[in-house]
Amino acid sequence: MTKFSELGIRPEILKSINEMGFEAPTPIQERSIPIIRSGGDMVGQAQTGTGKTAAFGIPALQKADTGSKLPSVIILCPTRELAIQVTGELIKLSKYLEGIWIVPVYGGQPISRQLTALKKGAQIVVGTPGRVIDHLKRGTLKLNNLKMVILDEADEMLNMGFREDLEEILSYSKGKSQTVMFSATVPKAIRQIMENWMDKPDMVKVDGKAETAAGIDQFVMEVRDSVRTEAVSRIMDMTNFRLALIFCNTKRLCDSLVQELQARGYSADALHGDMTQNIRDKVMNNFRNGKIEMLVATDVAARGLDVENVDVVFNYDIPQDPEYYVHRIGRTGRAGRTGMAITFASGRKMKRIRFIEKITRAKLTPIPMPTVREVQQSKMDVQMEEVLETLEAGGLREYIELLEPVAEQGYSAIEIAAALMKQKVEKG
Ligand code: AMP
Repeated sequence: MTKFSELGIRPEILKSINEMGFEAPTPIQERSIPIIRSGGDMVGQAQTGTGKTAAFGIPALQKADTGSKLPSVIILCPTRELAIQVTGELIKLSKYLEGIWIVPVYGGQPISRQLTALKKGAQIVVGTPGRVIDHLKRGTLKLNNLKMVILDEADEMLNMGFREDLEEILSYSKGKSQTVMFSATVPKAIRQIMENWMDKPDMVKVDGKAETAAGIDQFVMEVRDSVRTEAVSRIMDMTNFRLALIFCNTKRLCDSLVQELQARGYSADALHGDMTQNIRDKVMNNFRNGKIEMLVATDVAARGLDVENVDVVFNYDIPQDPEYYVHRIGRTGRAGRTGMAITFASGRKMKRIRFIEKITRAKLTPIPMPTVREVQQSKMDVQMEEVLETLEAGGLREYIELLEPVAEQGYSAIEIAAALMKQKVEKG
């Protein structure tokens, strides 16, 4: 397994990567970063959610020429939302780099603000094609020092009718700078861009094929990110699951989720690469023998994790690669038992679920978030079963005698039973 430190990334960027909680490069990062760093043209076939922004963002930051006020890198995105998102990620990655300014330019924002920002000198410009052309025409954006052009979500840009704009921008850069493209699909129009404007690009595709393990019931729960913890709690409360494995994409999220779960009264702990082997072993043992009921882990830490009896795997974050998905859910349903995997997805992330389904040839059945009432009902059912078992087992005389004085105070047997039941259910 490759580490970020093996990809020739500058220490200042490694420091931000660590702060962002990324534990290991995603497959697209592992394969793209060395190619882009080497200076060659590249086409990466990857969707949102795979870590593609950092895959081109890290080499872009390394290539930016801090000695110049003119942009060295231009990143083109189909929408202003994406331009803002990419800028945000690059600003985070560049936290410890001196002298790098990243400026977004997009339609809808007053051009005057962008002019001021560009004038100050930006090494990296992130923009929508139309607005970039505006600036080129006005002469407020000069590409004389350009070293790299990145087309993000190129297929979307073509779908939105930006082809001419793109070609105009590429005509400024052809032969002078490296061209990198990311696209979820590679239709004919994309191939034409590759032929006309790129120099023998390397193709990087990471979807591969990943077979889902049999015997695991797979569900998707469409919920907003902010209610995922509540959803985990409700599911754990209404079932008799004893061991749950919860996956997050970053070390940071693992830690904050563990805190949230502990605050809700669960015994939860984290497993990730910032922990020493010693502590990891301890956590693993506690999980194996049931002292911890919820283990919150990153993909890397869970590698080689061998625990039987995991009742449920939660994908708190959608995995960044379908192969991770298969690997994660394979931690449940071991030794011939049926397992359960529940993946949380907010509405706009459902596209990634479809992609996972396609690659793994599995179907994720949609389930709604359980309501509070359902949780209560379900707890009640579990308790009721226990009560019936106790009745059948007999040996109640001692307790009947204890309760007789309560009955003498005028309470009926059913009222007393209800009070005991209420106590039991509410205590969980
Ligand atoms: P993207 O595909 O670029 O939209 O990235 C999706 C999300 O994954 C973003 O929130 C990134 O910050 C995050 N991300 C990128 N690289 C990694 C990594 N190596 N480990 C964990 N999260 C990552």
